[in-house]
Amino acid sequence: MNLYLATKNKGKVLEINTLLNGTGIEFISADGIMGNVAEDGDTYYKNAFAKAMAVYEQSATPVVAEDSGLEVDALDGAPGVYSARFASDEDGKNSSDEDNVNALLDFMQEIPKENRTAKYVCVFCLMMGGKSLFFEGEVAGTIAAQPMGMSGFGYDPVFIPDGFDKTFAELGSDVKNKISHRAMAVTKLRNHLLSLDDKSKK
Ligand code: IMP
Repeated sequence: MNLYLATKNKGKVLEINTLLNGTGIEFISADGIMGNVAEDGDTYYKNAFAKAMAVYEQSATPVVAEDSGLEVDALDGAPGVYSARFASDEDGKNSSDEDNVNALLDFMQEIPKENRTAKYVCVFCLMMGGKSLFFEGEVAGTIAAQPMGMSGFGYDPVFIPDGFDKTFAELGSDVKNKISHRAMAVTKLRNHLLSLDDKSKK
């Protein structure tokens, strides 16, 4: 089963398809047909829906979109839905991963280790047959004092998942893909898609 994945983020396409290895489901990047979608919703749900709809209108075939972010407790849940453009001065324009990480560490300079709790949140929107369904995942952790590790993308060099003493960027994709917010949400989405596939065979 092939579905469009409404994202331009290559890191996400790779990560999600790795999570789907062996299931017979593969997501194809909709980069070429999706145009510029304003991700100006104030929830992950609204942004995931907007991205899925933008591709669905072009393709009329099943589409999956994902929106995700990092929520830091000491910053009242920021950067949240604004994670991709946290360091940007321009409205709606994404900033580089490195700038975002540095901006986050600047904001958190005075915050002691015990108060650096955070979570990653991920929401998938599946648009199929004119209907949308949502699947959510979360992973809790803490924000490191400095970037460590090379793997992953975004805030991975500063996110230490609970139960570990290394960042996602140090732990690498094998560990991240077992416990991440995206892995949790993809598992729910995958189970739903496989149940549809089973029904269609009966
Ligand atoms: P969007 O969902 O493409 O709007 O962007 C989500 C942003 O949240 C990314 O650009 C990253 O900054 C951050 N983010 C979401 N998931 C992850 C992750 O698994 N690792 C690191 N950063 C993430």
